Amino acid sequence: MARAGSAQERLDQIVRLVAGEMVAEVCSIYVLRAGEVLELYATQGLNPDAVHRTRLRVGEGIVGDIAAHARPVSLADAQSHPSFAYRPETGEEIYHSMAGVPVLRGDRVLGVLAIQNRRSRQYDEEEIETLQNVAMVLAELVASGELVNPNEIKQVDGIGLLPIRLDGVQLNGGVSIGRAVPHEPRIMISRVVAEDPKAELKRFGDALHAVRADLDRMLEDGDLGHGEHREVLETFRMFADDRGWVERIREAISDGLTAEAAAQRAFDDTRARFADVTDPYIRERLSDLSDLTNRLLLRLSGRNTAADPTQWPDEMVVVARDLGPAELLEYDRTKLRGLVLEEGSALSHVAIVARALDIPVVGRVENILQRVEPGDALVVDGDNAQVFVRPAEEIQQQIAETISLREAQRQEYARLRDLPAATRDGTAVSLRINAGLMIDLNHLESTGADGVGLYRTEIPFMVRSTFPDVEEQTSIYARILDAAAGRPVAFRTLDVGGDKVLPYVGAFDDENPAMGWRAIRIGLDRPAMLRRQLRALVAAAGARPLQVMFPMVAEVAEFRAASHLLALELHRAKARGAITPARLSVGLMLEVPSLIWQLEALLTEVDFVSIGTNDLMQFLFAADRGNPRVGSRYDSLSPAALRALRFVVDSCDKAGVEVSVCGEMAGRPIEALTLLGLGVRTLSMSPGSLGAVKSMLRSLDLVHFAAYLRSLLDGSERSLRDKIMLYARDRGVRL
Ligand code: PEP
Ligand code: MG
Repeated sequence: MARAGSAQERLDQIVRLVAGEMVAEVCSIYVLRAGEVLELYATQGLNPDAVHRTRLRVGEGIVGDIAAHARPVSLADAQSHPSFAYRPETGEEIYHSMAGVPVLRGDRVLGVLAIQNRRSRQYDEEEIETLQNVAMVLAELVASGELVNPNEIKQVDGIGLLPIRLDGVQLNGGVSIGRAVPHEPRIMISRVVAEDPKAELKRFGDALHAVRADLDRMLEDGDLGHGEHREVLETFRMFADDRGWVERIREAISDGLTAEAAAQRAFDDTRARFADVTDPYIRERLSDLSDLTNRLLLRLSGRNTAADPTQWPDEMVVVARDLGPAELLEYDRTKLRGLVLEEGSALSHVAIVARALDIPVVGRVENILQRVEPGDALVVDGDNAQVFVRPAEEIQQQIAETISLREAQRQEYARLRDLPAATRDGTAVSLRINAGLMIDLNHLESTGADGVGLYRTEIPFMVRSTFPDVEEQTSIYARILDAAAGRPVAFRTLDVGGDKVLPYVGAFDDENPAMGWRAIRIGLDRPAMLRRQLRALVAAAGARPLQVMFPMVAEVAEFRAASHLLALELHRAKARGAITPARLSVGLMLEVPSLIWQLEALLTEVDFVSIGTNDLMQFLFAADRGNPRVGSRYDSLSPAALRALRFVVDSCDKAGVEVSVCGEMAGRPIEALTLLGLGVRTLSMSPGSLGAVKSMLRSLDLVHFAAYLRSLLDGSERSLRDKIMLYARDRGVRL
C-alpha cells in the first residue's frame, strides 16, 4: 500500500498478490458505486475487459449477496448457489468454488473482495480471515476517495444500510409500505434486592391488578369482534390469573427480591426449563409469558406502555423478535401497516390477531432487528414472504403501484360480487371458500361465495391450548353455521398428523408423516375422538342441513367405517330426543390415488366427493407438497394428472354424485379454467382467490374451451400449461 502509483495500480497489485498467495486462479475487487451498484474494479484471472464494465446490483449474485448482508461467504460449488449470477463477459463459468468478504469500514459496506478456484475446494477459516484483513486495507483505500468520489456514495452510518431483501415465511398475506418501529426490548431491571418484602408484595399486587385491568379493557374493546383472536386474548388474560405463576413470583419476593426481579426470575426460570423444547404449543405459551412479564415490569416502573406513541410515524411497520397478541394491540391500529418478526408461525397468536387487523405479516426473518433502524422504510410483502429494508426508490414506487393495482383489482372484484358466477355461454359455477378460522367466514359476505366448500376443523384445534371438549366443539361449529347463514358448509373431520401437529398432542414419530398416521387413520384408530367430533357436528347443526366429509380415505372400507360412526351418533341424538339435521350429506376428500380405482363401489355410497388436489398431486407424483425442491417439479396441468382428474369427474357425473375441487388448484385462474374444462362445476378456494377466478370464468366460452382441452388430453407433453395459457390469451379469457 505504501508503494507509489495510482490507486488503480495498487488495486491491480493487490489482486495479483492475493491470488498468488492464496493459490486462487481468480481474485477480484468490486467497489460500491452510486445507485448501490458493485463495479468490478480489478481482477486477476477474470477477463480484464470486464473491469469497469461488470456491474452487479447489491443483492444480485453471490458478490451482491455478500454486500447486502455484510457477511463473508465460502462456497465449494458456487454455481449451484441460488444467488449465482452468470456474467458472460467475465469468463467465470469455469470456476467452481468461491470465497468472498465484504469490504467494511466501520459498519459501512464499501465493496467486496472475492477469490475463485477452478476445482471445487473448501476455503478454511484462516483463509477467510486473511481475506478480511486484506479487505480492511482495501477499505482505507476506497475511503481515501482516490477510487470513487466520496460524494458519490451517500454518507450513511450503520451496518447493512444498503437496501436489502430478506426472506421469511408468510404469516399473513398482503403488501404494505411503512416506517420501521422496532418493538421496545425488554425492560431492564436495576434494583434486584429489596429491604421490605411486604412493600414489594404490595407493589406486585398493585401492578398485577393494573395489568389485568389493561387486558380486560382490551377485551372489552368492541371493534375486536368475535373469533379466534378474541379467544387467544382470553387465554392470554387467563394466564394473568395463573396461580402457579403468581405464587412463584410471591415466593421470590419473600426470599428478598424486588417485585421486578422476582417477575424476571419467574420468566427466566421457565424459559430455561423449556429452552430446548421446539413444541409449538410450549413456544407459544412462552411468548405469552414474555408479553405478560414485560407488561408487569412496565407497570412496576410506573408506565403502562413501553412504546412512545409520539414517535410513531403515520404509517408504521412493527419489527420484533416475537410479539404477544396483546402487545400488537397496544399499537395504534389506524397507523399499523405491517408486522415483521424474527420468530412466529402461521398459527402463532400474534398472527391470528394480525389477520383480524388485516395487515401483512412476514415471520422468521433472520436478525431483522439488527438490520433496521427506527424510521427505515420497509416493504412488507406478505404474499411473497419477503421484506425489503430501505428499498431503492424504484422498488418503493413499484410496490406503491402494486398496492394501488391490488386496490383497483379488489374494487373490480368487489363489483363482481353480486354478479352471477356463470361462464359467458351460460354455465353456472358454484364458487365456495375454504375456511378454518371464524374470521374467514366474513369473506362469505365480502366475496359473495355460495358456501364453504372445505372447513378444516383442525385449525380451531390448533390454535387452542387444550383439546376442545364436545361442548366447546359444538359451539365452534354452531357459530360457523350461524355465520354461513344457510349457505352449505362442508365440515371436514380432523386432518391432523402430517404437517399439522396439535400442540397438546405432540408430533408423532412417523418417518414419513404425510403418508403416516394421519387424518381418518387416526380417527378410525381412536374412534372415541372421532365420535366426539361427529357428536358435536350433529348437535351444532340441530335442524339445519349438515355436510360432513372424511379426509385421506384410501379405501371404501374406511369410508364405510367412518360413516358408520356418524350414523351411530345420529341415532344416539335421535334416541335422546334431540333435534337432528333435516338433511345429512356424507362425503369424502379424494386425496389418495388408490380411491380412483374404487370409484365404482364408492360412488354408490357417498353423497359427494371433494377432490383435494394438494394431497392428490403429491401422491400421484410422489413429490412432497411442502418441499420447494420438488414441489414445483411436476405440473398439475400435465396430461397425466388431468386424465386422472377427468376420470374422477366423469365417473362422478355418470353416478350422479356431486364433485368439487377444494385444493389450491381451484383458486388459480388457469388451473380453475382447466378444471371447468374437465367438467368440474364447484370450486372451493381461499377467499382471496375468488375474485380472480370469478373474473376468469365470466370471460370464458366454456363449450369451446372444453372441446379444445379434450383434444389435448391424450398428448404426452410434460405440461399443457403453455397451450392453455395461449388459448386464454387468444380468446380473451381473463387469467
Ligand atoms: C388438499 O389436500 O387438497 C386439501 C384441500 O387438504 P389440505 O390442504 O388441508 O391437506
Ligand atoms: Mg389434504
